[in-house]
Amino acid sequence: MAERLIEGLEPLRPEWFQGGTRSQKGNVARGLHPLGSPLLGIPGHTCGSCVHAGKTARGHKKCRINHTHGAATDIRWKWAACMHYERSVAHGQG
Ligand code: SF4
Repeated sequence: MAERLIEGLEPLRPEWFQGGTRSQKGNVARGLHPLGSPLLGIPGHTCGSCVHAGKTARGHKKCRINHTHGAATDIRWKWAACMHYERSVAHGQG
């Protein structure tokens, strides 16, 4: 469990967030998903099980909703899901 400085508030860097660009770190510090959308807030739901997650031809993990060619829109499978999350059929209905 991540350390909480004040009960009820998320830490500035939650356990699920590793790596990331400067802008992604800033979004997380504001309580948002690294790409800037509000978090879904349901434990166990991650970018890796979202229908919008994919890889470019060069192998960069991207969100199809927020895709640009820059590193600021790279995602990681373990990141907590954002409000646009839709569960991939490949990951079941649970
Ligand atoms: S839409 Fe899906 S893949 Fe894109 S940032 Fe949100 S949870 Fe991650």
